Amino acid sequence: MTQKNKIKVNSPIAELDGDEMTRILWNMIKEHLLFPFLDIELDYYDLHVKHRDDTDDQVTIDAAKAVKRHGVGVKCATITPNAARVKEYDLKKEWKSPNGTIRGLLDGTVFRAPILVKNITPGVRGWTRPITIGRHAYGDVYKNAEIQVDGPGTTEIVFTPESGKPVRKVVHDFTGPGVLQGIHNTDASILSFAKACFTFGLDQKQDVWFSTKDTISKTYDTRFKEIFEEEYAANWAEKFDAEGINFFYTLIDDAVARIMKSQGGMLWACKNYDGDVMSDMLASAFGSLALMSSVLVSPKGCFMYEAAHGTVQRHYYQYQAGKKTSTNPMALIFAWSSALKKRGQMDDTPDVTRFGEALEAASMETIEAGTMTGDLVALAAPNENNQRVDSEEFLSAIRSRLKSTSKQTG
Ligand code: NAP
Ligand code: MG
Repeated sequence: MTQKNKIKVNSPIAELDGDEMTRILWNMIKEHLLFPFLDIELDYYDLHVKHRDDTDDQVTIDAAKAVKRHGVGVKCATITPNAARVKEYDLKKEWKSPNGTIRGLLDGTVFRAPILVKNITPGVRGWTRPITIGRHAYGDVYKNAEIQVDGPGTTEIVFTPESGKPVRKVVHDFTGPGVLQGIHNTDASILSFAKACFTFGLDQKQDVWFSTKDTISKTYDTRFKEIFEEEYAANWAEKFDAEGINFFYTLIDDAVARIMKSQGGMLWACKNYDGDVMSDMLASAFGSLALMSSVLVSPKGCFMYEAAHGTVQRHYYQYQAGKKTSTNPMALIFAWSSALKKRGQMDDTPDVTRFGEALEAASMETIEAGTMTGDLVALAAPNENNQRVDSEEFLSAIRSRLKSTSKQTG
């Protein structure tokens, strides 16, 4: 295709490159599936762990600002350094998780949804539509204070206001050893979580479910429920009505029971711990981490798309040893396609949106026709057409399909 025939993407997308096997796949995706078809400006930030180290992590901050500026970003998986990585890459220190840094700067919420293909059926057969999990990633047990109690004594929680009298409450009178824990959350964080969930629900035209244990936790969990309900009534109810979608609040145990019996198709907003547990359950019930997409949504309406999996370190070492790997690029492709669809929607350029859709369709059809990476062969319905291919062969197969659809339509 000549430059003239390519689809013009009007505004830039912030591109955050990453590490190891996903960095290799990232490049292949651009070469095979994007650059041949698109005239696109990418505002590039290299989040390779060594470059984060060289810039004292400034590049991560700059990248987050670029996502804010452009409204749309796409991120490759990145190493969160631990002691072993500091040694492996000769780093100055164990830099913080880039995802944590970016989430903090954008005040965002992460939504994860499975990519459904016809020949891989979810563990729960009724789930015919994806279930998205929105996890509140602040506070509760993840920012707690804990004490191991050695013997008898009294436990209190005390709040000391900046002005005024302390408020105290007895938690428990211990008669023997035990454990105790103090947790908190803030109205501001819960509200921004609620806003991000309603933003995502409206964007995807999906019902929003929210669940807590407010019958037991009459102050703490009830506060979450109140904030969601007040925010919904004040700013979203009319917009949701206009789209024919709903907000539904129920107890966490009732939500679990209903989800199992549902067909899917909703956003399930979860408190921090519930979201941690439920997202892992859903990921394995839907098949594979490599078929799980992820988006960070800020309450101001910025979107950063990525894969839910990591850098696939084990495959990278094989790649470095000169072996071809059969690493699944689906979640990375969907990060790009989703970013393009969002860009097209924001710029009002239907061509770009259609390209994102065509890319997704070509990728799913490739798997449905039996051409897939090793992780999926084990999960797919048995078929004589099923064929295990390496990553590059898989991308070429998608490219052929994409070429033939772009010929048919244009
Ligand atoms: P991982 O990269 O998600 O990989 C764990 C295992 O899952 C792989 O070894 C592989 O299994 C399988 N897998 C994951 N993605 C796959 C794909 N696309 N295709 C085929 N198989 C896939 O997790 P990890 O090995 O625990 O972490 C590696 C690095 O990623 C760490 O440094 C961590 O800090 C980073 N990480 C980054 C992010 C992020 O940037 N969002 C998220 C999580 C982890 P087999 O080896 O059995 O084939
Ligand atoms: Mg977890």
